[in-house]
Amino acid sequence: MEQKNLAIITYGCQMNEYDSEMVAGVLQAQGGYRLIDDLEQAQVILLNTCSIREKAEQKVFSELGRLKQLKHKNPDLIIGVGGCIAQREGYRIMERSPQVDLVFGTRNIKLLPQLLAEVINKKAKIVNTEPLLEDINPTYIERKGKVKAWISIMQGCNNFCAYCVVPYTRGPQQSRPSWQIEQEVKDLAQQGFKEITLLGQNVNSYGQDLNGEIDFPDLLALLNQVEGIERIRFVTSHPKDFSERLIKAMAELPKVCESIHLPVQSGSNYIMERMNRKYRIEDYVDKVEQLRTRLPQAGITSDIIVGFPGEREEDFCQTEELIRTIEYDNIFLFKYSARPETPAASFPGQVNENIKQERFNRILSLQKSITFEKNQSLEGSVQEILVEGGSKKNPERLTGRTRNNKIVNVDGSDSLIGKKVMIKIVRAKLYSLEGQLLN
Ligand code: SF4
Repeated sequence: MEQKNLAIITYGCQMNEYDSEMVAGVLQAQGGYRLIDDLEQAQVILLNTCSIREKAEQKVFSELGRLKQLKHKNPDLIIGVGGCIAQREGYRIMERSPQVDLVFGTRNIKLLPQLLAEVINKKAKIVNTEPLLEDINPTYIERKGKVKAWISIMQGCNNFCAYCVVPYTRGPQQSRPSWQIEQEVKDLAQQGFKEITLLGQNVNSYGQDLNGEIDFPDLLALLNQVEGIERIRFVTSHPKDFSERLIKAMAELPKVCESIHLPVQSGSNYIMERMNRKYRIEDYVDKVEQLRTRLPQAGITSDIIVGFPGEREEDFCQTEELIRTIEYDNIFLFKYSARPETPAASFPGQVNENIKQERFNRILSLQKSITFEKNQSLEGSVQEILVEGGSKKNPERLTGRTRNNKIVNVDGSDSLIGKKVMIKIVRAKLYSLEGQLLN
């Protein structure tokens, strides 16, 4: 069978990156495709989309506009759209962008070889967003890189935060059986991978839908035993499910890294309630204190949304106060973006764009100074990093991460890729550290 060239454009979170690895894996193994980067040479281009913010959606439709020109030059080009926008919009994508031949959902990636064959052979236009809830286990995955791998341990979310589309686009929470995850991790270890990141919209509620057979700390303990794997990370954790048992597991399991992404979103209990986040700020701060008591060196990051409907200046000031109290290593900062079908889109008290921007700038500059100070405090310290490969900005140099997830760039030979090495931090920058290899 003649191989066809496939290009994939991915938007959004790590879950989408992982799904794209699955799309590539399935189509290479079962569809006779070869993954390439050059869109001009592709016979099939798939967009794996994100609808978490309006800006992300706009990017997808502008890309589709560019692809229309490509299709004009090459009428046989097949354009497909998957991911969260596809799941939500279905047929409407084709109405808006008639150059699209295929729309597929977040939970039916395994059907892609057959869907694409139909599109090509029957010259049909297909929309298939029916979720295949019963089978979320990946079959083939074309992983990027050789040192670290992502593993999806669950799909969907039951939390229904008032601003979020995920429960609508990815369905209810469904955890994978632990033995399948363990097998996947063992296979990765055999292939030489050293670090795994467990992925889920809400990883620490893993197992709540498995009749009490296993929970997330137990899963970490199980995977900690897999020989060959040296580091375990996980993302994302919901504060309401961040338990003492999980803190204990992080402190006691040697392969689990001292790093956590624990999105607080706002520092105001009033806003928390409106967001339907199901925890109070006092409890959040208490949990972070417990974590820091057990693991003082833990890296802690968060998501912050400014300008959520109803956010008053006093709520915003509480967010600033919380950031000063916790001193996050870093944050992902967003201006609230109303998403269709979510309750918050129709809440009263939508915040004016200028105010959102002003609050965004204030938090950004506050967090930048905290991040830089924290990085500076590491100057002169000795850290273990796992060398991941060439640095993004300068492939001649190596890059790796500390256990608490700081990026470190260092000079050294490629033979160190995949190895843990000790380095001395010689200079702090805002988003990375400069290191020097120790013998
Ligand atoms: S926990 Fe909330 S923000 Fe996270 S995916 Fe679920 S609904 Fe969305």
